[in-house]
Amino acid sequence: MHGKVYLVGAGPGDPELLTLRALYLLQNAEAVVYDRLVSPAIMECINPDATLHDVGKVASCKPSMQDDINHILLCLARTHQHVVRLKGGDPFIFGRGGEEQAYLHQYGVTVEVVPGITAATGCAASLGIPLTHRGLASSVRFITGHLRDNQGLELDWASLSDSSCTLVFYMAMANCSQIVESLIEHGRSPHTPIALAQDATLKSQRWALGTLQKLPQLVQTFSPPALLIIGQVVQLHPDYPEPIESSRAALTPEPSWVLM
Ligand code: SAH
Repeated sequence: MHGKVYLVGAGPGDPELLTLRALYLLQNAEAVVYDRLVSPAIMECINPDATLHDVGKVASCKPSMQDDINHILLCLARTHQHVVRLKGGDPFIFGRGGEEQAYLHQYGVTVEVVPGITAATGCAASLGIPLTHRGLASSVRFITGHLRDNQGLELDWASLSDSSCTLVFYMAMANCSQIVESLIEHGRSPHTPIALAQDATLKSQRWALGTLQKLPQLVQTFSPPALLIIGQVVQLHPDYPEPIESSRAALTPEPSWVLM
């Protein structure tokens, strides 16, 4: 009889952004398998009697490491009732949660997925940049800036040229120059506003605002984990040098009534 594996999203770092379900599962875990991106403050929420398994990966990790992680999860599920696989952000957004779930299902292990706040929404909230906004962005795309084995970034660049779509790049630090070149080549303006956020929602958070053409320069002072937001919505940040007053004004009319 197998135990159950909970694929739990830890959110972007601030423990207050854990879901109640995630907190409950951490407090009651017998074994926790965790990644590099899980913040120390969240690690403190884990049942002190649980065994901890650090499977922190480096950006250039070999695909075989995922096989090792899958195997660790299976072994733990065979010997424990309550196993938590804790991942930064959301397990199903660039988190390989799907692969772990599929592997465990193959061996008859029950899996429950607990969503987490993904870096895109965590960073956006922390910086005060809405990812969609009436009149500026009608859609948002979450994109990986890093492909398996560090191969070139073969994205459908033409589909990313629509200026009414906000682009959020995860793991984009190393390939920033290629991202900028390809987006401009496919029609994005070099003046498109961008925001970079490192360690979003943590005390160590850093961020910068700029334009697409300045990104390669800007990125040099940042280190992972950092997220890149590209699109008109970045101008809604209060510190953006040229905010679009007309759009803000149109959306915040002075009410003609008062609440008593
Ligand atoms: N499953 C995670 C993403 C894992 S990929 C999620 O849903 O958020 C790792 C990438 O996420 C990092 O390279 C970085 O681009 C982004 N990221 C995660 N946490 C972050 C944070 N606190 N601040 C900025 N970027 C973060």
